[in-house]
Amino acid sequence: MSIAELVKKQRTFFHTGTTKDYQFRITQLKKLKQAILLHEQEIMQAVNEDLNKSEFESYLTEIGATLKEVSFTIKHLKQWMKPGRVKTPLLLTGSKSYIYAEPYGLALIIAPWNYPFHLTFAPLIGAISAGNCAVLKPSELTPKTSTVVTKIIQTTFPEEYITVVEGGVEESTALLKEKYDYIFYTGSTHVGKIVMEAAAKQLTPVTLELGGKSPCIVHKDANLDIAAKRIAFGKFLNAGQTCIAPDYLYIHKTKKEEFITTFIENIEEMYDERLENREFTKIVNERHFHRLESYLEGHQIRYGKERDKSILSFPPTLLDNVKWDDKIMQDEIFGPILPIIEYDQIDDIIQVINEQAKPLALYLFTESKDIEQQVLRDVSFGGGCINDTIFQLGTPYLPFGGVGDSGMGSYHGKASFDTFSHKKSVLKQTTAFDFSVRYPHKKHSLSLIKRFFK
Ligand code: NAD
Repeated sequence: MSIAELVKKQRTFFHTGTTKDYQFRITQLKKLKQAILLHEQEIMQAVNEDLNKSEFESYLTEIGATLKEVSFTIKHLKQWMKPGRVKTPLLLTGSKSYIYAEPYGLALIIAPWNYPFHLTFAPLIGAISAGNCAVLKPSELTPKTSTVVTKIIQTTFPEEYITVVEGGVEESTALLKEKYDYIFYTGSTHVGKIVMEAAAKQLTPVTLELGGKSPCIVHKDANLDIAAKRIAFGKFLNAGQTCIAPDYLYIHKTKKEEFITTFIENIEEMYDERLENREFTKIVNERHFHRLESYLEGHQIRYGKERDKSILSFPPTLLDNVKWDDKIMQDEIFGPILPIIEYDQIDDIIQVINEQAKPLALYLFTESKDIEQQVLRDVSFGGGCINDTIFQLGTPYLPFGGVGDSGMGSYHGKASFDTFSHKKSVLKQTTAFDFSVRYPHKKHSLSLIKRFFK
């Protein structure tokens, strides 16, 4: 079936109204959850073959995170679907105001390769919960996971409701030629612009979950042991191929050496065994491996074990004394290299960060409320943590998304339901009476109306 026919079939199904029913949505979410549980081993296996993810990482970031999302949605959906009643001004006495969440219709979901299972299914949960049909496009760079995703979808849902189109740029381009009611894209900023351009031609609303260079700041008053441990976890999880990984480290110059010593201890404790057992996530392909290696040229590596190109193994690597005009600082690193830049005054680094594109995440380690307030007030970023990394993702109560070059829109928990729902505002008027002043032909109506608009 051609993409155009598929889209047409979904639109026809959407117009039957089947997907709008609460019972239908809940049943589909429960089916999805069961399917994930049933295919748990296959998902683990596929993600391992594509990216060499350890069982711990696969469960935490792919399966567990998705199950949590679907369970939370099942629990709260009834409440989220209730029309919201809001106040009505005096001018409209006698009427009541409501907000109805209705599905957009057909959603196109394009996913990246770094968390190939979770980043395909997490938006899908939002699309289902809001009552949409969906076309999924997993990443071609993780083909095994793409196959499992397709198998799960095909055995769980009819294609007129939810379907998968596998492939790369060609298939994405063909998909983007069709008209959808919502496009949810996760991936690079560069492709995000292509997606938004295609969406603009059809006036389709979008959520863009993009990337960027997320700063991590360790201030002089930070708890260094905790900071070292949490940054080592957040930076090297998935071999640094995480959209919200700390991209580079700003460390106060008085604490740099102490921090680096502790940081290396933590890296070795967390990852040495994994590296020896070949359980450290690999770099997705040779092109990215070479791109990462090119960042090392001209630098003295402060720390880093031997790389093994034959298995695309790139161990945690530190670069010290990095400058903003170095190659590594020009683009998102998206790999296990942490450049370190020392600073003296927090004001100076805030200024430099604000000269860059708005980051997806920011992490600040400090015990000072003043420093915390200053950074939160003066730097715009998608989301982040004070004294931690990554775990802004760990709660369904925090909407997740970027700002500026790191994206637009957000999801997770209720934010996913909201993202895939149009909010239809409805005023319900009374017919019990009818104020004559609202009509233009009545004498004195202008002077009366003016009183209400003060
Ligand atoms: P990518 O943009 O290369 O690919 C993402 C998806 O877009 C894939 O499905 C791919 O097939 C498709 N695509 C590629 N080129 C296309 C084109 N010309 N037209 C239409 N579709 C196209 O991104 P990636 O390399 O898979 O992922 C890495 C990037 O994604 C990083 O920048 C990372 O920060 C970002 N990311 C962001 C989030 C987030 O939640 N904000 C999550 C994961 C990754």
